[in-house]
Amino acid sequence: MTKKILILPGDGIGQEIVAEAVKVLDCLQKDFGLKVELEEALVGGTAYDDSGSPLPESTLTLAKEADSLLLGAVGGYKWESLDIAVRPEKGLLGLRAELELFANLRPAILYPQLADASTLKPEVVSGLDIMIVRELTGGIYFGQPRGVRTLDNGEKEGYNTLVYRESEIERIAKVAFDIAGKRDSRVCSVDKANVLECTELWREVVNRVGEDHKEIELSHMYVDNAAMQLVRAPKQFDVMVTTNMFGDILSDCAAMLTGSIGMLPSASLDINSKGMYEPIHGSAPDIAGQGVANPLATILSVAMMLRYSLDEAALAERIEQAVNSVLDQGLRTQDIFSEGMKQVGTAEMGDAVVAAMR
Ligand code: NAD
Repeated sequence: MTKKILILPGDGIGQEIVAEAVKVLDCLQKDFGLKVELEEALVGGTAYDDSGSPLPESTLTLAKEADSLLLGAVGGYKWESLDIAVRPEKGLLGLRAELELFANLRPAILYPQLADASTLKPEVVSGLDIMIVRELTGGIYFGQPRGVRTLDNGEKEGYNTLVYRESEIERIAKVAFDIAGKRDSRVCSVDKANVLECTELWREVVNRVGEDHKEIELSHMYVDNAAMQLVRAPKQFDVMVTTNMFGDILSDCAAMLTGSIGMLPSASLDINSKGMYEPIHGSAPDIAGQGVANPLATILSVAMMLRYSLDEAALAERIEQAVNSVLDQGLRTQDIFSEGMKQVGTAEMGDAVVAAMR
């Protein structure tokens, strides 16, 4: 059956890098029999310029109809002074909320060819392959009550609420166990159960879900230790599952172990594995329009889409092998360039991946 993919280039380099990912999708359609229909829509600052909203109704309708979404990035200097309600980032947050994309998957993979790009010693990170599964629509970022109030003595007090229901913990834990089953069969659940009752419940529910996945090795770690272990010995982890806020922080830390922000894809999934796929980086307004941005994170996001939403693991592997092959050929965009390699632009890198796929 033909699947619908909504293409959302967004702002800044989003336009340039998504064009290269579309070349990859075109190649899969023409040469490898992938049956998909592509539609394109506006989101973020460009959507605001067009209609006054960073998430127009027409985009939201197409997003709901699509089987998967591919997003470039949103944001830029031009829109920084806008009211917060219509800033480009609201378009992205709106899509996550409206589509109930509760599971954020952030792989941190270090390509051996780029081992020097990490700030950590090559022996600590070479071969690194971690998947962080972050709960994305609950926890302290959404909990009520929240706000800033004035106490009787006139002093102000800020407060937020960390809250998770059993069903929310259960569904994110299931995602983590399922993914671990396709990898090295190990899940480390990260919490702060020694201090926070809410994450004591988190641990209890993850253990319960683990009972149905005896083939997966389950461990637990306090978040402070997890942060330390990520920079001390990151290769000990396979899949990490954690709350919204802990995942926000740990996934950025893990991404930076690889040293190359232009290489890392991500996915946000709903309960039926419909997903929004995007590079982890932003719209890079400092280099937008110059044709120098690295398109590989976006191309690898297509691979994730094939694996997690479209059930096309073999095609996903083909893309990943092609990316490995262009790196082996010594092709580098400026963000990952090093002495002795061949520097290429955005389009040249995209073309090289397509050639390697064929
Ligand atoms: P950024 O990720 O856009 O850029 C950080 C640095 O990395 C910049 O020097 C940039 O040139 C470089 N970089 C990023 N992606 C690259 C690529 N593919 N190739 C080569 N170099 C790359 O982060 P920022 O500068 O903090 O934010 C810029 C804008 O992006 C802001 O408006 C921010 O809100 C937005 N943003 C959007 C998303 C998203 O859409 N998911 C995520 C983060 C930031």
